[in-house]
Amino acid sequence: MMSTPAAPASFHHRLVKTRIIATMGPACEDAQTIRQLILEGVDVFRLNFAHGSHEWLEEVLHKIRAISADLKIPVGVLGDLSGPKIRLGQIPGGELRCGERDTVRFIRGREADSPQDLTCTYENLISDVDTGDRILLADGTVGLMVTGKADDDLSVTCVVTEPGVVRSKQGVNLPGVVLSTSCITPKDEVDLAWALEHQLDFIGLSFVRSADDIIQLKSMIRQHGSDSQPIVVAKIEKTEAIADLERILEATDAVMVARGDLGVEAEISRVPIMQKEIIRRCNQERIPVITATQMLDSMTINDLPTRAEVSDVANAVIDGTDAVMLSGETAIGEHPADCVRMMQKIVHDVAPLVIGRGVEDPHTHESRRANPVTEAVSLGATVVADKLKADLIVVATDSGRTALALSGRRGRVPILAVAHRQDIVRRLCLYWGVTSIQSTLVRQSADALLQFVVQWGLDNHILKSGQKIIVVGHTNWLGDDHDLLMVHVVP
Ligand code: PEP
Repeated sequence: MMSTPAAPASFHHRLVKTRIIATMGPACEDAQTIRQLILEGVDVFRLNFAHGSHEWLEEVLHKIRAISADLKIPVGVLGDLSGPKIRLGQIPGGELRCGERDTVRFIRGREADSPQDLTCTYENLISDVDTGDRILLADGTVGLMVTGKADDDLSVTCVVTEPGVVRSKQGVNLPGVVLSTSCITPKDEVDLAWALEHQLDFIGLSFVRSADDIIQLKSMIRQHGSDSQPIVVAKIEKTEAIADLERILEATDAVMVARGDLGVEAEISRVPIMQKEIIRRCNQERIPVITATQMLDSMTINDLPTRAEVSDVANAVIDGTDAVMLSGETAIGEHPADCVRMMQKIVHDVAPLVIGRGVEDPHTHESRRANPVTEAVSLGATVVADKLKADLIVVATDSGRTALALSGRRGRVPILAVAHRQDIVRRLCLYWGVTSIQSTLVRQSADALLQFVVQWGLDNHILKSGQKIIVVGHTNWLGDDHDLLMVHVVP
């Protein structure tokens, strides 16, 4: 008898679901916790290049891949490039208390001698800012305004507008200041080479300012010449990126609403509006979108979230996000597995408010950039599956494109994507409602695929005799390329 891979635990809920991304860090790096997080529902791990050496990343990547293979649950890996993230240098004594109307100086170089002087990792800050510009420190909790520049271009003087305490290495944001550096820094180039050599599935770019940054990243990926063509994720966290959103959507493969820095670079009160608009446009254009940062923040310490956090996760799902992301909660928190379990429970409980949307209201979901044939066949498959109360939509997918179109419909019937390559199976881990498995039979014939899927469904107690399966795909089973839609009854 043919042996088929086990279904992920979450599939047994029989409800398609929003994907969960967990950020890797010291709190979840051990094999047992990684196993637990995958079993609780993590679909993608984020490796943050801002923290951790390549040796450490190599070790955790190896563990993630080995455990995922052992559990037969595919898991994607996202490498998050830091971009021009600016951090404070060492502050003598570790911290500086900034009182209202105090004067502080930013000086070139990495070391300050005077207690009122600050340094940072971006030396051009001194040349790029002008009198009147704002400099925000420590996640925007401390604000400065530039009051003067030294003639020798070695320092700028600032007055404290929002008092507070800043510590060494905390973040520096320059809202509205045009940086003279490229978005992809020399460190990013080294990290990108590592990510491509290790065949990461997704590459995130921080502090994207315009579509040109994404075009540059894609060209660097192509020039590297590796087999792996990862999905590029544009992190939207600057107002410039919001202004160039339409071009960014044309250039990118996926998007992250990076609310942490977005809430510093833009008015924090406007983050929810921006989140909703970015998700709406991504849904329309079939671009997978991730909502990130502080989703269950209080669970970094507590074992239960606040009501507001639960509502935040639920509302991101209702907005239409494909994935929700945990950051410090899993990377450095005290309860990484509880966070994933809670997130899984929220997205599962709120799923009925989302599923069925694309069937009930098909014409509001027309995409401008998607292939019209793929779109029409996917809509057809979703409607047919709904009408026949089918149990499974099976999509034979080469690149993941048809699976993405089906995912965008947010239909009622779970989607099983069968791909011939494992890297495609892993990239499907970001798409809403798509369970993915690998089989080379997908290229052989409709019969071979059906036999495989039916056996998989029976082995995993997902299908029973008499149930209906809808099969859809862009294939060459009939000699030439065709887009097919078939209805099959489990014998
Ligand atoms: C963010 O700023 O929200 C974000 C996701 O980026 P990072 O966690 O890399 O700072």
